[in-house]
Amino acid sequence: MSLIDRLAAIVGRDNIITEPAALEPYLVDWRRRYRGTAQCVVRPGNTAEVAAVVAACAEAGAGIVPQGGNTGLVGGGISKNDEVIVSLTRLNRIRSVDADNNTMVVEAGVILQHAQEAAAQVNRLFPLSLAAEGSATIGGNISTNAGGVQVLHYGNMRELVLGLEVVLPDGRIWHGLRALRKDNTGYDLKQLFIGAEGTLGLVTAAVLKLFPRPQAQLTAWLAVRSPAAAVTVLSRLRETCGERVTAFELMAQTPLSMVRQHLPQVFIPLVPQPWQVLVELSDTWRGAPLADMLNEALQPLLERGDVTDAVLASNEMQAKAMWRVRESIPEAQKVEGYSIKHDIAMPVSAIPAFIERAAVELERAFPNIRIVCFGHVGDGNLHYNLSPQAGDDRDFLANTATVNRIVHDLVHYVGGSISAEHGIGQLKISELAHYKSELELVLMRGIKQTFDSGNLLNPGKLFGE
Ligand SMILES: Cc1cc2nc3c(=O)[nH]c(=O)nc-3n(C[C@H](O)[C@H](O)[C@H](O)COP(=O)(O)OP(=O)(O)OC[C@H]3O[C@@H](n4cnc5c(N)ncnc54)[C@H](O)[C@@H]3O)c2cc1C
Repeated sequence: MSLIDRLAAIVGRDNIITEPAALEPYLVDWRRRYRGTAQCVVRPGNTAEVAAVVAACAEAGAGIVPQGGNTGLVGGGISKNDEVIVSLTRLNRIRSVDADNNTMVVEAGVILQHAQEAAAQVNRLFPLSLAAEGSATIGGNISTNAGGVQVLHYGNMRELVLGLEVVLPDGRIWHGLRALRKDNTGYDLKQLFIGAEGTLGLVTAAVLKLFPRPQAQLTAWLAVRSPAAAVTVLSRLRETCGERVTAFELMAQTPLSMVRQHLPQVFIPLVPQPWQVLVELSDTWRGAPLADMLNEALQPLLERGDVTDAVLASNEMQAKAMWRVRESIPEAQKVEGYSIKHDIAMPVSAIPAFIERAAVELERAFPNIRIVCFGHVGDGNLHYNLSPQAGDDRDFLANTATVNRIVHDLVHYVGGSISAEHGIGQLKISELAHYKSELELVLMRGIKQTFDSGNLLNPGKLFGE
């Protein structure tokens, strides 16, 4: 019996896709930079079926690429060489919600937005939030250790997962769905699968942490003198408002101009200014005087010119409109064309010097360059994307290696990371090899060998061939 017939016997013929037009959406990534080939897409409906599918592929020696919502930004979910794509999207049940334990058990194919809604139904918050939340799945969020806009308060996915259920490369199931905040019984295995980009196992379900829902929230849009002023504002806000600072997003004018040009229906609160910040404060007490706190924090900064303008959202609609601007940046950039993208992390205090130095070095090497800089500055995470001012952006992509070396050398110099939240996938394999120490690479390869000695899971990702 052929592998496809065996898989059809497990999941039913209707859940095997081989026809080219139907395969297409699974073969191309969100940014349309990668196109793969695949024997088929298989869509199991529960954990037992995932295990049987994986066992059948292992027996046939067929490579497997796990895929969720296919919103990944580094080509991690795109097959390279006729592998079997295992789509987890039919595993879409919320298995249980425990409001008293502040946890819920969800399957890997649950769309992030549906997980947020399930938490809200019991008056709890699942805080992971990102612009792709209408299509990205919990399994994909876990496998890329997604961050998003509230990491500075709630942490990234690594901190939001208490337990996992995982199908291993030989088809065995690891039942690790523990809903515990304390469990000191040796190695924390779940952490190995979080951020593993589907190279160690297929996540089928997870125990997620929930939080009280904020009852008071204030969103503000600030213009700041410089990135250094933005860091000062963040420090001051934290001193005054403490843990109530739940988001702090920095945007240069260039990405905002792209939003203005390509998405004119999106309203940008202030007139163009070199650097702008979106701030969110939250509290579980409805009566929390957030506006007073913000005003107290900003007053000295306005007086000395670190903050040059500010507007506070006076209702939820205005707050949403401000968030819409920030969330529209990736979409506007996509319309604008190709760029060389960097998703980098560094100590918050190193950001101003990095931005200044990187601009000098890049403009020296490429006088025609356009820098698109924005990001989750509260987490020390910048999206730092480069394209030409004019001319063919595809030609500019030929400079990727040189541009990456300039940017990533500086990131490395300040003790940063070449991938803050998108992962390695296919996009950053050579950069990982360049910047990780030999010892780290040896340890990582050892882990891969322990779980997947046949290199069947997501081959060609993370380490290359
Ligand atoms: C517009 C936009 C905005 C974004 N903003 C942010 C942001 O602010 N912060 C942030 O952190 N990220 C952001 N991202 C990236 C986002 O985190 C990822 O796209 C998302 O988490 C991936 O989920 P997915 O279900 O689409 O996974 P996919 O794209 O399908 O897969 C991603 C990776 O995970 C693996 N995988 C998927 N499911 C499983 C599974 N069940 N088991 C094992 N491996 C699996 C795949 O093989 C692949 O390597 C953004 C993406 C977009 C398109």
